[in-house]
Amino acid sequence: MTTWRNWGRSASCVPAEVVAPVDEADLVETIQTTAKHGQSIRPVGAGHSFTSIAATDGIQLRLDHFSGIVTADRRSGLVTLLAGTRLRDLPPLLGAHGLAMENLGDVDPQTIAGAISTGTHGTGLRFTGIAGQVRGLRIALADGRVVDCSATERSDIFHAARLGLGAIGVLVHVTLQCVPAFALAAQEHPESLEEVIDGFAERAAHADHVEFYWFPHTDRALVKTNTRLPGDAPLAPVPKWRRLLDDEILTNGVFAVTCATGRVVPAVIPSINRIANRLVSSRAYTDHSADVFVSPRRVRFREMEYAIDLDVLPDTLRAIKSLLDDRGWRISFPLEVRCAVADDVWLSTAYGRTSAYIAVHRYYRESFREYFDAVEQILVAAGGRPHWGKLHTRSAADFEAAYPKYGEFLRVRAALDPGGLFTNDYLRRVLGPVSR
Ligand SMILES: Cc1cc2nc3c(=O)[nH]c(=O)nc-3n(C[C@H](O)[C@H](O)[C@H](O)COP(=O)(O)OP(=O)(O)OC[C@H]3O[C@@H](n4cnc5c(N)ncnc54)[C@H](O)[C@@H]3O)c2cc1C
Repeated sequence: MTTWRNWGRSASCVPAEVVAPVDEADLVETIQTTAKHGQSIRPVGAGHSFTSIAATDGIQLRLDHFSGIVTADRRSGLVTLLAGTRLRDLPPLLGAHGLAMENLGDVDPQTIAGAISTGTHGTGLRFTGIAGQVRGLRIALADGRVVDCSATERSDIFHAARLGLGAIGVLVHVTLQCVPAFALAAQEHPESLEEVIDGFAERAAHADHVEFYWFPHTDRALVKTNTRLPGDAPLAPVPKWRRLLDDEILTNGVFAVTCATGRVVPAVIPSINRIANRLVSSRAYTDHSADVFVSPRRVRFREMEYAIDLDVLPDTLRAIKSLLDDRGWRISFPLEVRCAVADDVWLSTAYGRTSAYIAVHRYYRESFREYFDAVEQILVAAGGRPHWGKLHTRSAADFEAAYPKYGEFLRVRAALDPGGLFTNDYLRRVLGPVSR
């Protein structure tokens, strides 16, 4: 028996067995055999959730053989993918059909099933998270049935399973609404934090994609604004040497050293952050969308992220800033602020409201608990909803009020998995016991 660990080294488990079914029939047989033996089963993606949402002491299901495109229709933009397909494999696969993902988060090692199951999102007030791009699903259920669902076919299953936390069944296919391939013109530059906080909603209303990073203990923010351009727009990518310098040496290499130094001598962190602010200097470039949306993350960290109403963003950020000023912690990792349009995905953090996201990070060798707990209190007071794949301390009782469709989600789960075949400790915490 081998120990499984997630990317952030914040969750681990020892599965009784790891199974990688080779096709749908094999998957169904695995589910049925597991149920017969009274064990639990949990699909895992790329292990990029910070919570223990993917952990199991039962059967760990790896969908490594479920990778690639099933069908793609260039005209409608609808693309059906096998659930274990990694986001990083999508640009060439979709590009061959003249298509691309409408929006993406910061990184791309995740599987498509894992990404939608926790509500992975990018930024932009005209765009939903990835679960909002889902138009259909094929899902293997606890009783061994495999069903197709969409907004018009078995819609309850669809609404629950497109952001299903792995609690509804095992996704086999995911049909996504893609868009014609496009380029992004990126502008990145440091600005005064106060001005960025006050003007963020206004900028977000006008930009296609905007986000900012604030290094604590400094008064500057690095603002990233991406403008969508047609797929045949002339490209001006970051030259290879500059990408190596910015992404590999400065952002990842120097950052790894500064995080490690800051851990041993926390007093140097404010100075390091001021230097980091200067190192990540202005740049402008145009590239294929996926190459702009994602960048490498080689320094391990832990993260907590909450969605709040966009309107309360300035007050909430100022409260967090005061907290940091008061407590005297030394935090080497930046806060990240993003946004999304309201959507109708039952357990989406942006369900029914235009949302701002605030994410806090901590180097993985440092304790995050005190910092995250204190920031979490502010985010909860602001009506925040935690990202399902990132660290938080909320539990089932908190979500009844936070999500209007939470009760319906639980009913679908109880009807489809009455014996709790797919459950684990994390789901027991955030969803409660299966039969209620
Ligand atoms: C460095 C880093 C950067 C990140 N950046 C972002 C970001 O920009 N935006 C954002 O929103 N999030 C971000 N995340 C969080 C990440 O996108 C999510 O946690 C995502 O769920 C990870 O996908 P995964 O494939 O690793 O899934 P895992 O973490 O392995 O699993 C997540 C959930 O999906 C379920 N699952 C997996 N496969 C299936 C299946 N076939 N059927 C049913 N359920 C399934 C699992 O059971 C589990 O419940 C980041 C995480 C890291 C580590």
